[in-house]
This record gives sequence, C-alpha cells and structure tokens, in this order.
Amino acid sequence: MLRINRRGVLQVLGAGACASLTPKAFANNAQVVATRLWPSDLYTRMTLEVSAGVPFKYFTLDNPSRLVVDVSGISINEVLKSMPSKVLARDPFIQSIRVGQFNDTTVRIVMDLKRSVSPQVFSLLPAAEYKHRLVVDLFPTASAGVVQEEEEDALMALLKDYSTGQVKADGSTTAKAQTNIPKPQDTRPKATPENKTQIKRQIVIVIDPGHGGEDPGAIGPSGLREKDVVLAVSRELKKKLDSMGYKTHMTRNQDVFIPLGVRVATARKLQADLFISVHADAFTSPQPRGTGVYALSTGAATSTLAKHLADTQNASDLVGGVKKVGDRNVDQTLLDMTQTATIRDSLILGKYVLNALGRVNKLHKGHVDQAGFAVLKAPDIPSILVECAFISNPEEERLLSTSGFRVRVADAIAGGVKNYFDSGVALAQR
Ligand SMILES: [Zn+2]
Repeated sequence: MLRINRRGVLQVLGAGACASLTPKAFANNAQVVATRLWPSDLYTRMTLEVSAGVPFKYFTLDNPSRLVVDVSGISINEVLKSMPSKVLARDPFIQSIRVGQFNDTTVRIVMDLKRSVSPQVFSLLPAAEYKHRLVVDLFPTASAGVVQEEEEDALMALLKDYSTGQVKADGSTTAKAQTNIPKPQDTRPKATPENKTQIKRQIVIVIDPGHGGEDPGAIGPSGLREKDVVLAVSRELKKKLDSMGYKTHMTRNQDVFIPLGVRVATARKLQADLFISVHADAFTSPQPRGTGVYALSTGAATSTLAKHLADTQNASDLVGGVKKVGDRNVDQTLLDMTQTATIRDSLILGKYVLNALGRVNKLHKGHVDQAGFAVLKAPDIPSILVECAFISNPEEERLLSTSGFRVRVADAIAGGVKNYFDSGVALAQR
C-alpha cells in the first residue's frame, strides 16, 4: 500500500497575490511556453515557464519515491509532452517524469525519483526574458545516505539555510543556521618551536563564477553564454592560484544556479582573505569593449556603466530564481568602518589586477569603478568583480570563446593577486 505524505500546500503565484484566492481567480487558459531541467550534484531544478500565474500544489509519495505536482489553469500541450525526454541519465535525483491531464483544469506532473528528496516548490514573477515560472528544486534529504565531498555538503547546507531565510543578503547567517564549512587546513610544514616563527594561515581565495543554471548571464551576438565563459576562466584561475600556493574555493564548479547571498556566505564561512567574482560585460549596443574591474560602492555608483552593470548583475537572483522567505534585507546604514576599510583594500587589489589585465586586453577604463554590487558585500573580505571583456562586442565575444584568452585573463588576475599580497597592504590589515 502506498504511504501518502502530504507535505504540500496550495500556493499561489505572485508577490501581490493573496492566499485566499481560489483557483477561479486565475486565468484558465494559461500556456506552458517552456520547460527546463537543470540537474546538478547539489540540487536539480525543474522550471515550468507559463504565460500567466497559475496555482499549484505538490506532495511526495514513498515506495517508490515520487514527487507529484498538480498545476491548475493549464492544459497539456506539446511543450509539456516533451518534458519527459529532457530527463538526463546523469540526473542525481530524477529517474523519469510523467505528465498527464488530471482533470479539466489540472495537469499532473509525476517525478519518479532516484532517492528521497526535500522539495522546494515556488513561483517567480517575470524577469529578464522569462515569463511567470513555477520552480521545483529537489534537494537531497539528510537521510539520503549519499557521501558527498565535505565542501559540497557545506554548500548544500548553506543553500538549505538560504531557502529557509537564514542567510542574509550580506552573507551572514542567523543563529538557527546549522551550516559549518570546514576551515581549509594549512598544509605547509610547521615551523619548529625553537625559532618561534609565527605560523601564518594559508591565504584563502574564493573564486566566484557568475550566473549558472537558470541564469545564463549575458549572451553574445553569436550565442556564447556568459555563465559558460566565466566558469571556464574561473577554473583556469583556480588552477593558477593553486599552483602559486593559495588555498582556493569555487562558489560553483558546474552549471548550477547559486543565489548571490549564498556566494557571499560561502566566503564568510571560509573566512576568505579575498573574493573574486568573474563575469563578462554586456551592453545594449555592440560597440563598448575592454576589460574592467569593479569594487563595491556604499553610495552612488562612480559611473553609469558601473551602475548599469551592478543593476544587471544584481538581477541574477530574479533571473536565476530564489524563493522569497522572510526578511533578508540589510540596513545599508549599518555598513560601518569595517566595510570602509574593506572597500579601500578592494580598490588596491582591483588596481593591481587591472594593471595586470591591461597587458592582456584593452581596458575599458584606466581605473577601478564602483557600484552597489550585491555579491561584493561581505563587510570584512576585500572583494572585486572582474569583467573579462564585453561578450556583447562581436570581436571580444570571439576572444572570450578561445581558451588562449581565458588562460591569459586567469593568469593576469592571479598575477594581480600576487602583487597585492607582495605589496604588504593585506598584511598590514591583520
Ligand atoms: Zn555577469
């Protein structure tokens, strides 16, 4: 006999929608215009893109494990029929998907699962190119018995804390949060006690490839996706920094969406010494070009391009999609002297990195611009955002697609980091 576990509740789309609305309040002729599946080791996301907001409910079934999602106000169409064929054999969570018309007004989606999951189902309002979305995130349950890498486990815990509103936008976590990322071990030989050399901790650098999964970032005129380029550059950067003796950690190392707050929180949990976010610029016209480096501004942006960039990068959570839970707002007035000192260090780091990058590509500007980038908001970690080149410029899109350019950019960033530490600025702050 089936054991039915009804964890789901009726949910309604739209921030302004009221929970007392009946399904009748919604249009009954909404169309599913796209379905996407984003499998990853951390979590698998299923996205239904719909022409209008639609009510839904969901529940899990055991033996065998299944997740059932009932979506009202839609009818089965070719887009929905094609969904089962999108399941990949390598998906860690989904075995198969079945879709059927449950009754006149409801489509039932049944996911046959490879392991028990802890689902997060939520709706998103239209953002960027996307219409209304219904998002199903499948996280592994704690009892899934799957042994994961320690770091991956910690990222998973942060993602879960985030989804329940326990990670704030500045990356700090509330007391309830259980996350504990293991501190990187210092693997260098210990000094002998007699010479009393103070042992310094290995420098920890967090590398943050922008975007991922549902959020492609900017897309070049010939179709190159920012999320793929920046992951490739970040992997080169990690390789280089590792070879130079730094301890590195990537906020993502696959095509998965990680919320901005979780990226910052990862750096804070690791007590990172530096945070480097890797992006590729885009503008509304194809002409702008050149490499750029950005730091946080607590006031007005230093240029209109910097403001435009910060606005588009900060939209990542809207595009990639995060469930809104509780109040994660941070009072900007609370940014204190720590932040001011951190921004000063970020600008010095940025200048070293920009100088090095100037030997690889034309610079968009000769100085480090500043704006309110959400991903640079760790109050105590010098943080910069590197825009490798303009993906919206056809010539630079071509450059970004070559591994030679990616390696040169990564090597230049690493060189700038080394010069920053060699200058003693960072040491003086300890
Ligand atoms: Zn970006």
